[in-house]
Amino acid sequence: MIAENIKTLKQELGHSVELIVVSKYRTVEEIMEAYSCGQRNFAENRVQALLEREAVLPKDIIWHLIGHLQTNKVKYIASFIRCIQSVDSLKLLKTINEQAERNSKTIDCLLQIHIADEESKFGLSQKECNAILQLNELMELKNIRIRGLMGMATNTNDTSKIESEFKELKAFYDTLSEKHKFDTLSMGMSSDYKIAIANGSNMVRVGSKVFE
Ligand SMILES: *Cc1c(COP(=O)(O)O)cnc(C)c1O
Repeated sequence: MIAENIKTLKQELGHSVELIVVSKYRTVEEIMEAYSCGQRNFAENRVQALLEREAVLPKDIIWHLIGHLQTNKVKYIASFIRCIQSVDSLKLLKTINEQAERNSKTIDCLLQIHIADEESKFGLSQKECNAILQLNELMELKNIRIRGLMGMATNTNDTSKIESEFKELKAFYDTLSEKHKFDTLSMGMSSDYKIAIANGSNMVRVGSKVFE
């Protein structure tokens, strides 16, 4: 039951952790069921799916993108996207800024940090992230707001490993948050959100546990 699942999750998360419902691979009807419970923040991982859903779903949905984004696709989503959580290059930040400006808006961005073991996971190293944040040219990007970091832990049953990856990301976040006025640390999904919130996450991205 989607309504029950959302209610339970919200109780577990409390008021200080934002729930982003990951609607990838779900039907429009399933998404509407979550919407009917008052859920407004949703995330997709592919531009094409995001466009298809945005076109038919209510306009007050707050959309997040959580998958790898190619610079040439930013223009398709700029008019409606609220937050791009998977930013992994300066080039992408510049393109997002340009497209946001064209739409006379600001787009929230999270820098995706690579914390997992797996080769396949996208993201910046801490070193690369620091290098980007130190650039003076960031100041000129008036139509983006870098609000924090996003990360995914290794897909494993080893909870101590997941915990140490989340702790590492939180510690890195803490070195940046004051200076860069960050307010968002997006970590935790269905299998590991409890570990994530115990370790300082204030935004979780949950799919299967909502729709199962
Ligand atoms: C799919 C996905 C999620 C949600 O995964 P679930 O296990 O279904 O909760 C969260 N974050 C990212 C980046 C994803 O791609």
